[in-house]
Amino acid sequence: TKEFQGKKALVTGATSGIGRAIAVRLAEEGATVYVTGRRAELGKETVELIEQAGGTGHFVVADVGDLDDVRKLVQEVGDVDVLVNNAGIFPFSPTPEQSVETYDKVFDVNVRGTYFLTAALAPAMVAKGRGAIVNVSSVASQLGSPVGSVYHASKSAMDGLTRSWALEFGGSGVRVNSVAPGPIRTEAAVTQVGEVFESFVEVVPVGRHGTAEEVAEAVLFVASDKAGFVNGAVLNVDGGLVVA
Ligand code: NAD
Repeated sequence: TKEFQGKKALVTGATSGIGRAIAVRLAEEGATVYVTGRRAELGKETVELIEQAGGTGHFVVADVGDLDDVRKLVQEVGDVDVLVNNAGIFPFSPTPEQSVETYDKVFDVNVRGTYFLTAALAPAMVAKGRGAIVNVSSVASQLGSPVGSVYHASKSAMDGLTRSWALEFGGSGVRVNSVAPGPIRTEAAVTQVGEVFESFVEVVPVGRHGTAEEVAEAVLFVASDKAGFVNGAVLNVDGGLVVA
């Protein structure tokens, strides 16, 4: 049988990029996948890709930065076996020029959304005595940036949540891990990060960018029963960037 047969998964920000790849792979491995994001058209496209792959998917519109939306999302989806906190934004700005609005938005989506969605869904996992939570952080959690302080801080915060939740829920059979991508060739990364993104080829030891599918494989591993003893880890999927 397939690894995630009979399991229910929720993937945030699954309307594009890495989140979409995670949603499709979880569905291919048998999970019923709830796809969430703000953009209905793109969410439905993800569901179509899931169905083309022979899986089962549902789209629920939600802005994870909005706590009312998070509450509605949880009501609509119900309990899950796997939660992937992937939704994220990555605007860059020098610190003195950072607007309060953008600062708040980065923390609202990357940290607060992750926090309160997990807070709402973890109790049912704890009650069942099983479940997996995966935070898609970034190697930014472990690296500095001269132009991305807010983003980097938010991703460090996500890994801090991972470590604390691994202790808080681990004793109840609920494992919590981060998958930290390096430069991954998604449309958003290419268009929003631009030349800096392209220049990573020179510093990544394997000499190329990663793919959304490669990140999805790592997420599936830490979410699967095969990773039963992996808890509180930050798995870098970065071609060796952090150790370069
Ligand atoms: P992306 O923009 O395609 O994916 C982010 C998704 O989150 C999008 O679907 C977006 O619509 C959604 N989202 C944004 N704000 C949201 C909100 N308020 N509510 C719900 N959904 C929201 O980019 P991606 O490259 O696929 O990135 C996915 C994740 O991986 C992000 O958390 C990003 O920080 C992380 N990451 C990406 C890279 C990379 O190089 N691509 C590297 C490290 C980490």
